Amino acid sequence: AVKVPSDIEIAQQAKMKPIGDIAKEWGILDEELEMYGKYKAKINPSIFNRLKDRPDGKLILVTAINPTPAGEGKSTTTVGLGQALNKIGKRTVIALREPSLGPVFGVKGGAAGGGYAQVVPMEDINLHFTGDMHAITTAHNLLSAAIDNHIHHGNALRIDPRQIVWKRVLDMNDRALREVIVGLGGKANGYVRQDGFMITVASEVMAILCLAADLMDLKARLSRMVVAYNEDGQPVTCGDLKVQGAMATVLKDAIKPNLVQTLENTPALIHGGPFANIAHGCNSIMATKLGLKLGEYLVTEAGFGADLGAEKFLDIKCRYGGLKPSAVVIVATIRALKMHGGVKKGELGQENLEALEKGFANLAKQVENVRKFGLPAMVAVNRFVSDTPAEIELLLKKCNEFGVEAALNEVWAKGGEGGVEMAEKLVKLVENSTPNYRPLYDVEASIPQKVETIVKEIYGGDGVVFSSKALKEIKRLEELGLDKLPICMAKTQYSLSDDPNLLGAPKGFEIHVKEVRVSAGAGFIVCLTGEIMIMPGLPKVPSAEIIDIDENGVITGLF
Ligand code: ADP
Repeated sequence: AVKVPSDIEIAQQAKMKPIGDIAKEWGILDEELEMYGKYKAKINPSIFNRLKDRPDGKLILVTAINPTPAGEGKSTTTVGLGQALNKIGKRTVIALREPSLGPVFGVKGGAAGGGYAQVVPMEDINLHFTGDMHAITTAHNLLSAAIDNHIHHGNALRIDPRQIVWKRVLDMNDRALREVIVGLGGKANGYVRQDGFMITVASEVMAILCLAADLMDLKARLSRMVVAYNEDGQPVTCGDLKVQGAMATVLKDAIKPNLVQTLENTPALIHGGPFANIAHGCNSIMATKLGLKLGEYLVTEAGFGADLGAEKFLDIKCRYGGLKPSAVVIVATIRALKMHGGVKKGELGQENLEALEKGFANLAKQVENVRKFGLPAMVAVNRFVSDTPAEIELLLKKCNEFGVEAALNEVWAKGGEGGVEMAEKLVKLVENSTPNYRPLYDVEASIPQKVETIVKEIYGGDGVVFSSKALKEIKRLEELGLDKLPICMAKTQYSLSDDPNLLGAPKGFEIHVKEVRVSAGAGFIVCLTGEIMIMPGLPKVPSAEIIDIDENGVITGLF
């Protein structure tokens, strides 16, 4: 049998162009380009002013059905679709999230696309890249230090040490840091209290970086973050501790979008990577807006399935960014649809038309949901070698009967060439439809009303059950006037419900909101429906045991 090259082997064969050449081809001026070596650059936000009168390109969101744990290929499709659109003569830029460094050492899995649809240099993108994660970690922990320092020096703000909601962060999967005690060692070392670490991408600073319009907006949002409550239960903000200016200073370069390229030299803006559960899970608004100025098309993705990722992209990111998408591409795989149709994980390799037909309900629901936002949708069937011709034919037929355009997507195996049909169908869809984007709910509605709208309209549930703890927090947020913000649902990505085992398009369920928190700086209300892992651990045999580098600097085992 022919050995299939690994992602890193394919990436290392790439014929990259110097990033300065790509920038030039796409109309970025020398003085707007800040080089980080030969193949990475940051783009100075001054470009926005120069291009402000240029019309925006068309915004395409790539999302997916509820996935299997392996991922359905959203990043791969985003990269491949960008390559394919360029192949058919549509100047297209892509925008993606920055991978988190912590998980790289844990379970292997690409975060820069896969196969022949990848962004490069993949080693750098997956490791330190341009240092944004470090800057965010530093800015976040500066605020942590400021809190403990404030208490140490007399606590003029009367911060209640039992009600500090601001944890510390590190970009490393390290379960031993989930719960810690800080301030041990006597009076000189501060105040003893329980604390904990999250992984950097879970920081509200990351969510803010991704939603900020510019550096001054970033600073204003940092200032609004609630870090603790005082003895009267009133919020204490970052602004009260007066470190928003220092934090913004640390982030001065992190806020600039990063430019790299795909295997086929398509420009890729990779910037920001917030969690898709306790945050909204998309790259920065600045990168998306920049891509819209540079290309006729900008293809981007949102984390998790469409019920979470697309909903938050459309209700949070587009609302704040004033973005108006033109179409949504929903990635589906035959193996995941078979799983939605009741097939067990071990048996996904066998043809099963009945299960595929049944599992189609999940895809149908996601298409319906996208249309509720006033947007045209199309399906991209991400082809796996295990898919049989009969299964592919059935899925395309089901899409046709349902009235949604669908195309076979072979970008993983063939690069842009494998996405030409998908790209052509997308262009036709965009040119023949009039998108009429509208958010799903009015932010002025109450928190329970907003959550109920999402649950009924998007998840297909009957209603919401709030815990007493959640209701108490909702009341507090209403009293503080912090309730008129969009909702950020934190829910399992595997099901439309909050039960990961309820697959397909379930009916007759309720969603249980256990906890409500405000991210006042990012500007959303997080509704948690279960335990959310904010500091992952490493598996028994982590990738860290496989990753290596030789005397020539060649890296192996990254993916
Ligand atoms: P998502 O963005 O949905 O999480 P990714 O695009 O990151 O998914 O893909 C997840 C993994 O699956 C990657 O390792 C990628 O290389 C692999 N993959 C994607 N599409 C295919 C395919 N058609 N065949 C085989 N592997 C694939």
